[in-house]
Amino acid sequence: CGIVAYVGHREACPIVLKGLKRLEYRGYDSAGIALMNGGLNVFKRKGKVSDLEEFIADKDVHGNIGMGHTRWATHGEPNDVNAHPHYSSSKNIAIIHNGIIENYASLKQLLIEKGHTFQSETDSEVFINLIEDIKQNSNCSLAEAVRLALHEVVGAYAIVVLSKDDQNQLIAARKGSPLVVGIGEGEYFLASDATPIIEYTNDVVYVNDYELVVIKNGELEIRTKEDVVQTPYVQRLEMAL
Ligand code: GLU
Repeated sequence: CGIVAYVGHREACPIVLKGLKRLEYRGYDSAGIALMNGGLNVFKRKGKVSDLEEFIADKDVHGNIGMGHTRWATHGEPNDVNAHPHYSSSKNIAIIHNGIIENYASLKQLLIEKGHTFQSETDSEVFINLIEDIKQNSNCSLAEAVRLALHEVVGAYAIVVLSKDDQNQLIAARKGSPLVVGIGEGEYFLASDATPIIEYTNDVVYVNDYELVVIKNGELEIRTKEDVVQTPYVQRLEMAL
């Protein structure tokens, strides 16, 4: 339901949590966060963002790259396991997802036959395992695997993907669910709408359907799912806080 992600020079966790609170008006049943700090660590909970804050109070949540999600359950009841982010089977990559993957059942069956394992009942966990499967089979970059996965999934999504093996990269994509990139000085924000972003920067890019966003080593690149590089259209928001 709600997505916030950050990469830059600041601590990601407080920015992501504050952003998720700004998106609370959308409604949700669970909240979670993934942080890159050497590993790729996921903390998630059924309940409010404030419950998540309590849960992580004694955890190491440092890191300059992070992503957070508030879930409005469509596939699988609201509980801790079904909350986002979701790891792939190898736990090397993780996803947050807004929307619905309509062909998740057939994809899941295929992935189980190929040896992937599932913890949750969500369609979103199928998406991240599909990305992992494509990456393994095509021996390509994670960004390329995400791009190829967009050709396999049917439905609506805004996603953000992080990889343990690439500590300075954030990948996102959308179709049918909104996604906005905020461009700061040496930092980037991603969110379902501009409300979590405007206190940091007025410069935003509205991601179009079937576009892939790769933020790597401080550079933003947007390409279509057909692999055509796009010039980001940066809009200046004049919104009062
Ligand atoms: N379909 C996903 C789920 O049930 C995402 C729902 C959402 O948009 O929050 O977990």
